[in-house]
Amino acid sequence: MNKDDLIVVTGAGGFIAGALVRYFKDKDFTNIRAVDKKPLPMWYQRVPGVECLCLDVSHEDSCKRAVNGAAEVYNLAADMGGMGFIERYRVECLRSILINTHLIEAACRAGAERYFFSSSACAYNTDLQKDPKVLALKESDAYPAMAERGYGWEKLMSEIFCQEYWAERGLKTFIPRFHNVYGPYGTWDGGREKAPAALCRKVIEAKDSGSGEIEIWGDGTQTRSFMYIDDCTQGIDMITHCEDLIATPINLGSNYLVSINELVDMVEEIGGVKLKRSYKLDAPKGVAGRNSDNTFIKSVLKWEPDTPLQNGMEKTYRWIEKQYNDRKAGKPTIS
Ligand code: NAD
Repeated sequence: MNKDDLIVVTGAGGFIAGALVRYFKDKDFTNIRAVDKKPLPMWYQRVPGVECLCLDVSHEDSCKRAVNGAAEVYNLAADMGGMGFIERYRVECLRSILINTHLIEAACRAGAERYFFSSSACAYNTDLQKDPKVLALKESDAYPAMAERGYGWEKLMSEIFCQEYWAERGLKTFIPRFHNVYGPYGTWDGGREKAPAALCRKVIEAKDSGSGEIEIWGDGTQTRSFMYIDDCTQGIDMITHCEDLIATPINLGSNYLVSINELVDMVEEIGGVKLKRSYKLDAPKGVAGRNSDNTFIKSVLKWEPDTPLQNGMEKTYRWIEKQYNDRKAGKPTIS
């Protein structure tokens, strides 16, 4: 890659793609095009010196415009959110297939050298995730397929598009399966936020209101691993520039498993408060347990996400706390 080759990032008004744009800019790439359907004032991050386009890339023509001249295309645009969103809006999640379908075709026709698609651990067979003490999921566990309804099936099908564009048309594609990503500049309110941000906000709200209580979705025993955003952007770069990983699904996630109750303990400690927990057992809670088996990524890249959860959560909490206080003071915030 030359530093002035065009990098196109879709979903760049959102959490991960916004951080990816900043990552490439910090690496001195000079020709970056950021694309999102959200109006520009609603983007979570706007990086100076980056071309920002407001386009809906579920349409063919917008995709052609978005990737014109691109050397590398990173597709992180999707209609998505935490469990509350993906269990409730399965049609919206499935319709994200239009984004990848049009974008990969446009990227291929435009002569892009590399194409990245953000898949998800939700592509894994849900039958393997019924126990909170889940064995970590390895890449082959997506088949026989029984993905998460809606969102997970869209990811699995789009992975297959990426594999066939390589097999039939020679486009180099890269397909990490992200496990939960968290960090500053992500959704923290409004219904699309994921557990780490939601728990930070709830602890901050409880402190502010003096209620002394926190509501937790499910019984708190469900387990997950959480990857800090800086590990995610570094992993995206390493995977997309590794010839051994062309058209190969690979876990990109932390393998440090915690229960939601343990995550609440951690956030309470950061916030310096102890709250009474009430468990909303009928709330969306997803699979019982999910973790990332990092054997494959370690063998290929000699690396795995390793930011300690405590450190990442501390930064996330402080950022959400500032957002919360800014909103109270009537200042603009991102969620
Ligand atoms: P996000 O919601 O913060 O960002 C997604 C962005 O895509 C949004 O800004 C949205 O406006 C944009 N978008 C949606 N439809 C679009 C369209 N038709 N045209 C243009 N832009 C469109 O989500 P995120 O957490 O940054 O996720 C990025 C990608 O990573 C998604 O593909 C998501 O499925 C995947 N992923 C995320 C996680 C996670 O924990 N955050 C886990 C697994 C996979």
